[in-house]
Amino acid sequence: TFNFNAGPAALPETVLLEAQKDLLNYQGTGMSVMELSHRSKEYEEIHNGASKKLRKLMNISDDYEVLFLQGGASLQFSMVPMNLLTEDTVGYYVLTGVWSEKALEEAKKLGNTAVLSSSKDENYRRIPSLDLNQIAENAAYLHITSNNTIFGTQWNSFPEQLKVPLIADMSSDILSAPININQFDMVYAGAQKNLGPSGVTVVIMKNHLFERSENSLPTMLNYETHRKNNSLFNTPPTFSIYLLKLVLDWVEDQGGIEGLAEKNDKKARLLYHVIDESSGFYKGHAHLDSRSKMNVTFTLPTEEMTKDFLNQAKEDGFVGLDGHRSVGGCRASIYNAVPLEHVAKLAEFMEQFKRGY
Ligand code: PLP
Repeated sequence: TFNFNAGPAALPETVLLEAQKDLLNYQGTGMSVMELSHRSKEYEEIHNGASKKLRKLMNISDDYEVLFLQGGASLQFSMVPMNLLTEDTVGYYVLTGVWSEKALEEAKKLGNTAVLSSSKDENYRRIPSLDLNQIAENAAYLHITSNNTIFGTQWNSFPEQLKVPLIADMSSDILSAPININQFDMVYAGAQKNLGPSGVTVVIMKNHLFERSENSLPTMLNYETHRKNNSLFNTPPTFSIYLLKLVLDWVEDQGGIEGLAEKNDKKARLLYHVIDESSGFYKGHAHLDSRSKMNVTFTLPTEEMTKDFLNQAKEDGFVGLDGHRSVGGCRASIYNAVPLEHVAKLAEFMEQFKRGY
């Protein structure tokens, strides 16, 4: 099976094989890795090992905390404004798709918000330009979504020299290409695309932001609770964090983020090449300047042909190619763990299918 699901998504095979072993007997403990106490020495090594490895891979300094939380990226849509917005400040949002809309909707329930820029009127085909001068003095933060999973667009550079904290939802492109973490005050990501399985959300947050969390917040929704307790205030999602650790080891073996970025470039180029050379048979949803290297979205000339394409693809073992209902057509999610050979097979299939018409 060639898995092109948008998330949960494909995991590296070596990771799964190792997990299979540890599922029965974790390193001679006679217990499954799922049965380890979260207060045990063995688990502590996994937990701290994952955080240390992420710091190393992303070059994260001591100015930041790394947290492992639950509730998905969606809970961050609420926790960000809950902890970081105050009565007299404003949370700024850039709307680039469904997920950034959802982040904004949650913030609206909790405080003052403003939309700095949006590409909604173009059905989110591109990352809109920003006028940073429009950000008021009392801005609490600027929130962006670095990769738009549904529309297949991605930022290829980030605002610099911002006077307000920059927060990015990187759920669908974290670790896909090098970034300068120092440009951000907070990054968060649900794990189920590039980091591992669902169940854990990684939050990377600059130390100064923790001061904003009020004691009156519900304990579990307060970032400070998790910082103080090394993400062990309550039982963490131990198995997801264990798999995250294995995925991070795998990332290192791939030549780190740079190594993966090179492969990701090749993978994306293969598919966009087929789209661009198809004389309009396949149409990319995203503008050329905003194309995502993680989610390739495209349409075919008619609904009928799209159905036919998806059916034939399924028969040939390609899974997860249906586009999201808000874009229609097809979407190939080619996250870090999707092998180049699988993408090459898909490119070949797309060419063959076109020839058949
Ligand atoms: N943000 C982005 C960019 C996503 O792609 C997704 C899920 O696909 C989410 C947020 C929501 O994540 P979760 O399901 O972990 O809440």
